[in-house]
Amino acid sequence: MNAAKLVFTPLSYIGWGALKELLPEVEKYGPKKILVVTDPMLAKIGLTDKITGPLEEQGYSVTLYTEVVPEPPVEVGEKLVSFTREGGFDMVIGVGGGSALDLTKLASVLAVHEGPVTDYLNLTGTRAVERKGLPKILIPTTSGTGSEVTNISVLSLETTKDVVTHDNLLADVAIIDPALTLSVPPKVTAATGIDALTHAVEAYISVNASPTTDGLALQAIRLIARSLRRAVENGNDEQARIDMSNGSYIAGLAFFNAGVAGVHALAYPLGGQFHISHGESNAVLLPYVMGYIRKSCVTRMGDILNALGGNSAFLSDEEASYRCVEELKRLVNDVGIPNTLSGFDVPESALESLTQDGVKQKRILARSPLPLLEDDIRNIYQSAFEGA
Ligand code: NAD
Repeated sequence: MNAAKLVFTPLSYIGWGALKELLPEVEKYGPKKILVVTDPMLAKIGLTDKITGPLEEQGYSVTLYTEVVPEPPVEVGEKLVSFTREGGFDMVIGVGGGSALDLTKLASVLAVHEGPVTDYLNLTGTRAVERKGLPKILIPTTSGTGSEVTNISVLSLETTKDVVTHDNLLADVAIIDPALTLSVPPKVTAATGIDALTHAVEAYISVNASPTTDGLALQAIRLIARSLRRAVENGNDEQARIDMSNGSYIAGLAFFNAGVAGVHALAYPLGGQFHISHGESNAVLLPYVMGYIRKSCVTRMGDILNALGGNSAFLSDEEASYRCVEELKRLVNDVGIPNTLSGFDVPESALESLTQDGVKQKRILARSPLPLLEDDIRNIYQSAFEGA
């Protein structure tokens, strides 16, 4: 077994009221011109005022950029990068879900590099992110992506997704305040929550899992399993929001260090071709991918079953792994996400192009405990379509 490389950055503040750490952290950098990156919804509901208000009161020059869109296409990234390059900023603060945080990371590093974003994409790009970029502080407002602790920026292409990835994209500071998630609507709470769950589950069965990431992944699964349904039912349930913030953060640390696998590889084409949100794409595929690879990791599936609140004690490994898949499907169903691709109006005729794009995600597929080749990917999409 190889030695594990583990990266646990950035400096993080996590817990109710953690946002009060923003000013002291900004002060350390003494910025002259701060760019705050967010999406229009968060500006509209006044959530961004909680960030820009105190900064402006302290006399900082703050520019609010609100042109982030969910699952941002590469063109939206290009626009923000140009804006950042031209604006002479010396700090970027990302406020929002994974879409805003990913673009903040991208803008931070590409502000000090030349050329278009496409040059830096993982699948087709030719250039590496060589410099660290502007100081970046990330403040998540959803409990899902873990983007505040990863070195990835995900961008939507015409039919799939790709990433810009390098440790230079890691934030300098992450501030995770569950109070900022109270306003997340139920549908987004459900999708982002299952995204976080998928990070933890895939980190636990990844070929790169280590004892450290195992502990993180199982704790994330426990927190999410006990609180996701409650957070969806009642967005003002503070304890549920606290659990989800912690679960998402911990799952982020787990998957950043162990990697995600088949579910994410197959979810990217689904998001790219049908504009299904990242969380929902993962959610609909999670039980089918886990059902397909089950035999390669039955003992670990038993552990996941226990973390989900089940009990594998009197079950054979085989039975526990079946039960684990059922529990995952039940959770997805309970939070109101369709359990089949047809539930998202994906036609059967699309399964072949999904398969062809899925095969391209070699970097991610490499972490699957069961190698997933073209026929396997086709079979999984087919069963997710049929619900079988
Ligand atoms: P999102 O950022 O796209 O936000 C979804 C919606 O929720 C938006 O309409 C937004 O306005 C709204 N919203 C966010 N916070 C809110 C709040 N507090 N109150 C009310 N509404 C709120 O969703 P997301 O799932 O967090 O991020 C998805 C993106 O992150 C995708 O592009 C995905 O590929 C990417 N991602 C990145 C990583 C990573 O490690 N970098 C990991 C997983 C996913």
